[in-house]
Amino acid sequence: MKISTHSEKEKVKCSKCGHENELDLYSVINVSENPELKNQILEHKLYGYKCSDCGRNVALSYMNTYIDEQNKIIIFVAPQSEKIKDRGEARKIFESMYPADELGMDYVKRIVRDVRALTDKIKVFDCGLDDRVIEIMKIFLALNAGEEKASPDMIFFDVDKDGKKMFVMVLDNGKVLATDFIEEMYEDFKQEFKDKIDTDISGNIEIDPIWAMALLSAGKEDE
Ligand SMILES: [Zn+2]
Repeated sequence: MKISTHSEKEKVKCSKCGHENELDLYSVINVSENPELKNQILEHKLYGYKCSDCGRNVALSYMNTYIDEQNKIIIFVAPQSEKIKDRGEARKIFESMYPADELGMDYVKRIVRDVRALTDKIKVFDCGLDDRVIEIMKIFLALNAGEEKASPDMIFFDVDKDGKKMFVMVLDNGKVLATDFIEEMYEDFKQEFKDKIDTDISGNIEIDPIWAMALLSAGKEDE
């Protein structure tokens, strides 16, 4: 199944001044064909525009697919909407668009709800890390954030220009805090939760804190 980059020109009304801006909206971003689009995503340039009339920066949120053929990664961006209210619906749409037998079994498949989660996944995979372990780490980081609470869905994996890995936490009080990514902790978590991850048969591909919480609480009552 060949999934090529596809965009269409669409007129989008500026939310401030009502000016109609003509934009390229991508339904598919194939970064093996168009590596420049990956950079644009990471630089927060693809899912937003500057109104040509009033200059306002407007963020865009719409359904599309990110595909990396070389590394066999496909990420479906499915913002919460009237059409997609819950996790099951997003997965149904994804599976009808990209049936497993046509896509190939060797793809890592993921669903995310917004651009922040998409960039998080791209960075995690670029570092050769397992995003499932990262999501479990976020739960523990949130629990140990102390006085200044952070919710796990507001913790993001990041890499600076020198390649230093970190977690960025947006705290409940709005403060932003960077905390070191500790390789040893990652390896420990990977070992500790290997069995749980390997035996996760939920088929869930929306790997986020909700997934991680469900995984951590599964089987607890038997212990
Ligand atoms: Zn405008």
